[in-house]
Amino acid sequence: MPAKWTSELESAFNASTHEIIEIGKYLYNRGWLYATSGNLSSLISTDPTVVAITESGTFKGNLKTDNIIAIDSEMNVIKGKGKPSSETLLHLKLEASAKAGAVLHTHSVWSNVISSYFSESEGIYLSGYEMLKALNGVKTHEHEEFLPIIENNQDMKKVSIELDDILTEKPGIHGLILRKHGLYTWGRDLNEALRHLEALEYLLESEGRLLSFKDK
Ligand SMILES: [Zn+2]
Repeated sequence: MPAKWTSELESAFNASTHEIIEIGKYLYNRGWLYATSGNLSSLISTDPTVVAITESGTFKGNLKTDNIIAIDSEMNVIKGKGKPSSETLLHLKLEASAKAGAVLHTHSVWSNVISSYFSESEGIYLSGYEMLKALNGVKTHEHEEFLPIIENNQDMKKVSIELDDILTEKPGIHGLILRKHGLYTWGRDLNEALRHLEALEYLLESEGRLLSFKDK
């Protein structure tokens, strides 16, 4: 049974829509959401679960209000006319299992470089960087942040099962990479997710640029 639309949901949806439009523009201009890639979501209600998310296949550089839809926990569209992408499943999983209030997914060059270079690896450890302190709960540059790399798959149900295992094994992670696809990160709200995204992209670029020296 799809969740019933209420005036509380309407105002939470409108507020999130506004924020998602601004974040979409910003992330597109950073070069992380080219060619309609990526998706951005915000959990606007937990009981029942309702998520505001960008519709499938939409250009993120100039989102309009009707490019954002609201879905319930079963991916039924309860507000708007667009369709959710298959990757919406991962947003719902993170919002349920990682207690995320918002999820941002980019298709960045540096996530491709790192996940291609470490082609045999199930993830990388990031350590020693002051920027790690931008991640919720991290107090020192000596922290070791594990960033899992999951094989890309057109079947998001399979990715979602792997994601479940990773979240059980490493509940403290702040993001993950789908190999040669992109980065997922999350936070308690859109602002925190955006901070995590910038920090992780910065760390991936730092690691990626370092590789070009190591190979010489
Ligand atoms: Zn994607």
